[in-house]
Amino acid sequence: MRRRDFCATGLATLGASVFPYRRVFGADAASSVPILGIDGRQLTLSASDIQDLRAGLRGELITATSPNYDSARRLWFPTFDRHPALIVRCAGAGDVRRAVSFATAHKLLTAVRGGGHSISGQSSVDNGLVIDVSPMRMVDVDPVARRARVASGTLLGQLDMEAAEFGLATTAGTVADTGVAGLTLGGGIGRLARKFGLTCDNVLGFELVTADGNWRRANATENPDLFWALRGGGGNFGVVTSFEYQLHELAPVIYGGTITFPFEGARALLRGYAQIMATAPDELDVDVDLQSARKGGREIALTVCYCGPLADAERVVAPLRKLGKPTEDKLGPASYLTLQGSANMPGLSDAGAYIKGGLVPSITPALIDAVVDYLEHTTLDTFDLGFESLGGAIKRVAPTATAYWNRGATFNLLALGYWKLPGDGAERNTEWVKGAWKVIEPFSQGHYVNIMTSDATENRAHSAYGDNVTRLTAIKKRYDPDNLFRMNANIKPV
Ligand SMILES: Cc1cc2nc3c(=O)[nH]c(=O)nc-3n(C[C@H](O)[C@H](O)[C@H](O)COP(=O)(O)OP(=O)(O)OC[C@H]3O[C@@H](n4cnc5c(N)ncnc54)[C@H](O)[C@@H]3O)c2cc1C
Repeated sequence: MRRRDFCATGLATLGASVFPYRRVFGADAASSVPILGIDGRQLTLSASDIQDLRAGLRGELITATSPNYDSARRLWFPTFDRHPALIVRCAGAGDVRRAVSFATAHKLLTAVRGGGHSISGQSSVDNGLVIDVSPMRMVDVDPVARRARVASGTLLGQLDMEAAEFGLATTAGTVADTGVAGLTLGGGIGRLARKFGLTCDNVLGFELVTADGNWRRANATENPDLFWALRGGGGNFGVVTSFEYQLHELAPVIYGGTITFPFEGARALLRGYAQIMATAPDELDVDVDLQSARKGGREIALTVCYCGPLADAERVVAPLRKLGKPTEDKLGPASYLTLQGSANMPGLSDAGAYIKGGLVPSITPALIDAVVDYLEHTTLDTFDLGFESLGGAIKRVAPTATAYWNRGATFNLLALGYWKLPGDGAERNTEWVKGAWKVIEPFSQGHYVNIMTSDATENRAHSAYGDNVTRLTAIKKRYDPDNLFRMNANIKPV
């Protein structure tokens, strides 16, 4: 019998009615599950615990024996090869509530996953529970109010596309399949941040489930303490189920692209770049990457976005073109979506990567010399040392106005080592990044929470929160006294 004929027989209806039965007793029938407790102790969840949890979910409960276990546990970076004991793939806020209550009741070691792009691999956990909101994808734009309600599993590209259809946008990161959740909660740096502020500055409200299993709204009038903490405090305070963003008008055609220069002019180029950005309009965003070139050797690539009036664009970017003799100039009019898509990678990363980053108040001659000296002695085939421009609207928000503290920084420096998998580049690249970081760290003042490696120390995490750490600790103590949400740049509730 063909599938179409089967559906017509009415047996399909019978199939639907037996589905819940199959969910409980079927191919992935429950048996007891060994799992780690929040304190690291080995626990065992009974078969009936598992059955009860599964029966109460609209989404899926995945265990190590589920046929889709390997695809469900995969993070964007394949190097974080975590093996959780349980994955709850939430279909909605109700599932999130159920999963959080289960985690709290059983005191389970718990990770929360959105887009899966974590640079520290903390959105999954070996032998623990993963609360995965990635099936929850929805963008609902109100073009009149210029707002978007966005479910927490949504990816940046989905938000960008839906908003662009209405001639609107808000600040988002530069790779489309990054999750809105992790990016927004840590801050959110992107091409429009100098103009409109960080992604978290554009959040009007959150909906979330806190460790006690309660669903809450956090905005300027409801739970304002949580509203403050969620804008830059990372995933410390609960599982966010939806965000409401402020959108802004954006012309259908803006200006940008990449322009490439020979590596040999690095010192002069960086000096000129620092000068240009010191007086640049908020509409201009320029990132500089000193990097290995695809064809071999090394190069300097500038990634440019100018979102001001198109008629002014050539004049505004003219000084960038004079930073050296370009080897390739791909600057020109483009839609915001085209510019946003330029860094996309097809599917999940197939490379290993190790990244360290830090925020600097300015690019000084000593910093330029330190960076270029280090790169001149680099023997790696693949590397990237990047300067992301900040300032503008980010800087005009007081450091205490939201949990995101490091408002005064004008650049975010990133050292990235990456290698093909399978391959043995991990050690060489990690050492290279650590070496780069030793050189750069004396110039940095604070870190960006979303660029925190798994080996980051508590001090490093605290340098992301600065003096806000005291208030964050009090809020953490109130909403998550047992530190259920600890797989992040953690704020301890003591
Ligand atoms: C290729 C790539 C490009 C990037 N580009 C940018 C960029 O342009 N700008 C920028 O600012 N950052 C960028 N980042 C860093 C990015 O912001 C972080 O990796 C961020 O954590 C990714 O969010 P996610 O939801 O995809 O991650 P996940 O790995 O799913 O989650 C990361 C962390 O966020 C928290 N979290 C996730 N979902 C929830 C939720 N629903 N509720 C509560 N907490 C949650 C958890 O603590 C989790 O450990 C980039 C990262 C990568 C890998």
